[in-house]
Amino acid sequence: MHTRIAVDCLTCGHSASIGQDELPSIGLAEDTPLVVLTKRLTCRTCGSGSVRAFRYVEDEEAPPLIPRG
Ligand SMILES: [Zn+2]
Repeated sequence: MHTRIAVDCLTCGHSASIGQDELPSIGLAEDTPLVVLTKRLTCRTCGSGSVRAFRYVEDEEAPPLIPRG
């Protein structure tokens, strides 16, 4: 299980995600609150600071598709 943070730009709709353990590589602590994160991040596509972020758990064990029985 791996926690990732998805970030959506509210201006142009660009979305990206970053692993929580990758936050130090952009100068943020792993436990940075999302509200702080959204203030620090800027959309790479349009330069807007209006972004929203949410955490989700990436389950590496679960297959993305399940065959029908
Ligand atoms: Zn944007």
